[in-house]
Amino acid sequence: MTQLLPTPAPLDDLRAACTGAVLGPDEPGLAEAARAWNVRHTHRPAVVVRAETPDDVVAAVRHARRHDMEVAVQTTGHGFARATEGGLLLDLSTLVGVTVDAEARSARVLGGTTWEPVLAAASEVGLAPLLGSTPHVGAVGYTMGGGMGWLARHHGLAIDHVRSFELVTPAGEVQVASADSDPELFWALLGGGAGGLGVVTAMTIDLVPVSTVYAGNLLYPAAMAAEVVARYAEWIETVPEELTTSVVLMNFPPFPDVPEPLRGQSFVIVRGCWSGPVEEGEQWLRPWREWAEPAIDMFGPMPFSAAATISNDPVDPLPAALSTEWLTDLGPDVAGRLVDAAFAADGPPLLLFAEVRHAGGAVARGTAGAFGGREGELLLCLVAATPTDEAAAASEAHIRALRHGLADHTLGRAYLSFCDGEERRARTAEGFAPDDLTRLQQVKARVDGDEVLGCGLDLTTG
Ligand SMILES: Cc1cc2nc3c(=O)[nH]c(=O)nc-3n(C[C@H](O)[C@H](O)[C@H](O)COP(=O)(O)OP(=O)(O)OC[C@H]3O[C@@H](n4cnc5c(N)ncnc54)[C@H](O)[C@@H]3O)c2cc1C
Repeated sequence: MTQLLPTPAPLDDLRAACTGAVLGPDEPGLAEAARAWNVRHTHRPAVVVRAETPDDVVAAVRHARRHDMEVAVQTTGHGFARATEGGLLLDLSTLVGVTVDAEARSARVLGGTTWEPVLAAASEVGLAPLLGSTPHVGAVGYTMGGGMGWLARHHGLAIDHVRSFELVTPAGEVQVASADSDPELFWALLGGGAGGLGVVTAMTIDLVPVSTVYAGNLLYPAAMAAEVVARYAEWIETVPEELTTSVVLMNFPPFPDVPEPLRGQSFVIVRGCWSGPVEEGEQWLRPWREWAEPAIDMFGPMPFSAAATISNDPVDPLPAALSTEWLTDLGPDVAGRLVDAAFAADGPPLLLFAEVRHAGGAVARGTAGAFGGREGELLLCLVAATPTDEAAAASEAHIRALRHGLADHTLGRAYLSFCDGEERRARTAEGFAPDDLTRLQQVKARVDGDEVLGCGLDLTTG
């Protein structure tokens, strides 16, 4: 019997309607645009639209609807969830730009812009956006997940500072969502935005008056890890909200681009950012320096425009496995399990790092949107480098076993931005309080009942 292959939708009309490039099957650039930052994941679209304008987004969504295709949205691919197979991929990395209004302390950020230019433009006028540990993720994708960065305890989550979203609905219409215009959709986008509630073409956010911070890292030998984690758990009970910190169990890879003396070495790191008066920053780190001289001390005053150097996250795409839990405590049982998992006595490390971030403060007080972890004080983020399938399988099993061992010390909630791929979708319900999940599902059913935007979080009820 002759098998009938689906006829690819003609692209001429779409090309005529779009300013940006439209890439059909087998065209150069399609595979590259489809790949996620975490190179273990890739979309397999029939067509990619590199949107340059909101009209391109409208044309792409309407084309997809006409031809019964799903739409996947990707800016950087740092937060990949599910691959589209044969759908239309909207590549937003070409819809970029930022306008800062210093007087209004706000920025209008186009849908595919990373934090890098936003940070640069805001810094020029002594202001800062609420970016996270790396400026290389999409500002909108980061924000719609919650957005917890180095100013979180002082100023809250990124979702606490959004004034409005401009978007193209899954029906292909242009709309604004704000406190005054479809407030229910606005609420849902703040935390649940990766659930495919619309394609955000721009957002207007608050900027906060932060220019110089006291920030960096204190590195202690891995052998001191249990002691450092125990001290960290006590110390964070005493620090003010202007200080956002984490403790990191880090195995620096033995790669040539990792500088000596870090290359191939393991450390326990106290990391953070003081955003109060800079001259007061040193006093909050003094207990550590008085307790034990760090092997490397990189804490000091710095312009917030250099915030990327606090975590020094990798910039280039890499294969990785990641996972997360909100922890209820950092007592000896948790600390012991984390130290054992990060710094195994034998064999090469299975984790690149385990980081526990201190939340609370303005994060806990915030009320915007749907974010399931506000009550959490301790956010665990686990990352493994997975250069081969075998390494991926071993690291994933290791991470599963660690999470299982920590089960009595978790809130049962997930910060979904700290997981990706199948796990991100599968744990969607853990990302929200039950009532908020129901509310999000109702918004999803209203704005995207046909599941046109179905490649992010799973907000369906079926
Ligand atoms: C190295 C690294 C460091 C990180 N550090 C932090 C951190 O400090 N704090 C923190 O909170 N998070 C952090 N994250 C998580 C990050 O915020 C999420 O991965 C986020 O989803 C990335 O957004 P993106 O747009 O860059 O990724 P993408 O994978 O392109 O998008 C993520 C999701 O958002 C959707 N999306 C993106 N843009 C739009 C848009 N304009 N309209 C509609 N949907 C859109 C996509 O469809 C997808 O479902 C980090 C991630 C990595 C890999």
